Amino acid sequence: MVRVRFAPSPTGFVHVGSLRTALYNFLFARHHGGVNILRVEDTDRTRLVEGAVDNLLRTMEWVGITFDEGPEQGGEYGPYTQSERTDIYRKHANELIKNVKAYPCFCTAERLDEVRKKMQAAGQPPMYDRHCRNLTEEEVEVKMEAGIPHVVRLRVPLGETITFNDLVRGDVSFDSKTIDDQVLLKSDGFPTYHLANVIDDYMMKISHVIRGEEWLSSTPKHVLLYRAFGWENAMPKFAHLPLLLNPDRSKLSKRQGDVAVENFRDKGYLPDALINFVALLGWNPSATEEIYSMDELIAQFDLEKVNKAGAIFGKEKLDWTNAEYIRKKSPDELLVLVKPIATERGFSVSDDYLRKVIHLMQERARSTFDFIDFASYFFKAPTEFDEKSKAKNWTLDAKERMIEILTQFKSLSEWTHNSIEGVIRSYAESKTISAGKLIHPLRLAVSGVGMGPGLFEMLEVIGKEEVCKRIEYALVNLN
Ligand code: GLU
Repeated sequence: MVRVRFAPSPTGFVHVGSLRTALYNFLFARHHGGVNILRVEDTDRTRLVEGAVDNLLRTMEWVGITFDEGPEQGGEYGPYTQSERTDIYRKHANELIKNVKAYPCFCTAERLDEVRKKMQAAGQPPMYDRHCRNLTEEEVEVKMEAGIPHVVRLRVPLGETITFNDLVRGDVSFDSKTIDDQVLLKSDGFPTYHLANVIDDYMMKISHVIRGEEWLSSTPKHVLLYRAFGWENAMPKFAHLPLLLNPDRSKLSKRQGDVAVENFRDKGYLPDALINFVALLGWNPSATEEIYSMDELIAQFDLEKVNKAGAIFGKEKLDWTNAEYIRKKSPDELLVLVKPIATERGFSVSDDYLRKVIHLMQERARSTFDFIDFASYFFKAPTEFDEKSKAKNWTLDAKERMIEILTQFKSLSEWTHNSIEGVIRSYAESKTISAGKLIHPLRLAVSGVGMGPGLFEMLEVIGKEEVCKRIEYALVNLN
């Protein structure tokens, strides 16, 4: 039975790396008809951010990742929020002490700091010097009775190699001398990530732990904990997902604006496009296909095909993917997404009008905002004009021609892109000039910019009266 969990710590926004972890767990569970669990790891009270859980739940909903057990759904193995399980962790920590697999440590923060500094000065990785590891039972008792605050540390066996299999990376080994006597329970009685994570994975009957590579070096500690509890036979399989990298192969930046899923949503990316893009960060079932629906991803997902090498987070690829999804949407689907943006910008237009704009912009838009922000001339007359286009296209000749075109437009009885094109083409022919000599200044006068959708369609949508008004304005104000 496949049972997997996404176990975020609610410390703020949802990082795209977290989204990928959540997605791979979801795809794996659905592929195998298993159970997808959400577990909130909120035992680090100093890093808690109010509203983060809610934000996380809404973000998961937005991208279409669902859970079968979790704080909202409940389930047989709850509670699914770690801060509601502290008694369980304390009980287990005491059991480890009793079985000499862990020990209380009374060292003060100052002492630990000194030890750390000494080790650093000696060029060693900072680790606890195991000062309290060999206190006698009596010594411990005296300190406990005196009420000296203490933590509980894992008694890491010395001189051992800890090996485990990883579904992505194969066999992985760590020398136990590189593993710190990890704090399991803090002096405030809250567990650390390691203790709570292992106990919960065991108690929630997790079959596969799928998480980011940054947790790989924690895994030997977890393996030792499984052994210490005597749970080795129930140990989940591990799969560590490759790091996400910037295009220059440095670790993906942590600046919120660049990596927060909420930010992508707010910038007009579509959830299915983002999912498609994130799914392919470290995995692709084919060498050629780049577009997959959620159902296709579920059907094809295979942990063993996840790459070891870091995955490049290419913003351009995301933009390309988003544009592909925008192109595939129906005008009505897009209307639902674009209308609120228009309203927010203070443009009130009919659905019918907006649908026409969407139709014209669909090939060019890379985000839902582009429909409005790159096409604001559909909603208001330009008051500023692109300098480059002006210098190139708004010549004296052009102005004279615009006067004549304006007259012809005014006398058009039918205002369609065909009739508009007819005016332009026959005028160009009569003057033996290229149509471009008319199209560019006309576009500038009506839209204020040098680029956009097909001019004739654009003019049809904007409407005769408005187009004529804008040409008149340009003739007076554009020098
Ligand atoms: N709470 C950890 C995190 O924030 C979970 C790591 C794991 O999946 O074990 O990513």
